[in-house]
Amino acid sequence: MKSKGYAAQSPTSGLAPFSFERRDPGPDDVVVEIAYCGICHSDIHQVRDEWGNAMYPMVPGHEIVGRVTAIGSAVEKFKVGDLAAVGVMVDSCRVCNNCKANEEAYCEKGFVGTYNALGYDGVLVHGGYANNIVVHQHYVFSIAASLEPKLAAVAPLLCAGITTYSPLVHWKVGPGMKVGIVGLGGLGHMGLKFAHSFGAHTVLFTTSPGKEADALRLGADEVVVSTDPSAMAKHKSSFDFILDCVSAPHDMDAYMNMLRIDGTLCSVGLPEKPIAIAAFSLVTNRRRLAGSSIGGMVETQGMLDYCAKHDIVSDIELVSTDKLNEAYDRVVKNDVKYRFVIDLKTLV
Ligand code: NAP
Ligand code: ZN
Ligand code: ZN
Repeated sequence: MKSKGYAAQSPTSGLAPFSFERRDPGPDDVVVEIAYCGICHSDIHQVRDEWGNAMYPMVPGHEIVGRVTAIGSAVEKFKVGDLAAVGVMVDSCRVCNNCKANEEAYCEKGFVGTYNALGYDGVLVHGGYANNIVVHQHYVFSIAASLEPKLAAVAPLLCAGITTYSPLVHWKVGPGMKVGIVGLGGLGHMGLKFAHSFGAHTVLFTTSPGKEADALRLGADEVVVSTDPSAMAKHKSSFDFILDCVSAPHDMDAYMNMLRIDGTLCSVGLPEKPIAIAAFSLVTNRRRLAGSSIGGMVETQGMLDYCAKHDIVSDIELVSTDKLNEAYDRVVKNDVKYRFVIDLKTLV
């Protein structure tokens, strides 16, 4: 099937128009005409080969929403014309213990990413900065009709949304808990909305004093500018749970030291350098350091349904396809409010 989109050819090429072939849809496949695709910081890490695993040409994009234009003969969940979404994975083994437990993000064989990944057939797959995508029905989500007027702002839920929702649910964040969110970017602003919606006392940590007012509007009960040592000291040993959503290496010990007894610091950020924690910060208060990767299919659909019910979407800036390289530079400068979403109607 013919596709067109934007691809990087090397770590320094930037993104440029690119035509390519996708597999023809099989019996279990859904063809989605893409309306919008979010720009995740993981796209930038991979396009610029910051994780050392880049395969080119690379068509990034794993926050995909659009409409079904064709279905295979075995597809029952969707019909032509339905709204549909695709996130960070397009395949997993579906038979290992983790897949059978609806934890496809932790598939023992390794899930197949939406782009910069080889399918189990060995073919390089391409993501959502494109006009269409072909995906096995198991990895396609439904979008409630009530979200249609905000469809562009739904796109970031497919990665930024589920990546923050999943650990907050897993660690049972709710009323009576003091929860920290570190970094007000794409993930952080969704973590803030969910932690607030789940009823926790939510504190947002930011390096950007200019984001304070927005953080309060998005649901923070308190905002701490993390470069102010006295503001940071006030919160020592007081948090039940902290979700670190930062994209670059930073002092995580500072957040470890904010955990009360049995508190957990969970990193969803994926900086290219290892995380360093002092042993003394860890053993004090019997603290835990954890991580979390996106979420499974059932949980992701549940997150989308929760968002429809509670009217939660991302705060976005729409961007046209000719401005992608500028958008990347602005994300790296912490200058996006709070997720760029590509309007694929601008693809020529
Ligand atoms: P983003 O929009 O760029 O947000 C990152 C935020 O981190 C920035 O807005 C900034 O917030 C803060 N920050 C940036 N550089 C910093 C530094 N040097 N020191 C302290 N704070 C800094 O990125 P994103 O799309 O939310 O992604 C965040 C990270 O999560 C990325 O590494 C991405 O690859 C990773 N990720 C992981 C998963 C997963 O499954 N675990 C899924 C998606 C993404 P302030 O301005 O408020 O300080
Ligand atoms: Zn992502
Ligand atoms: Zn599996």
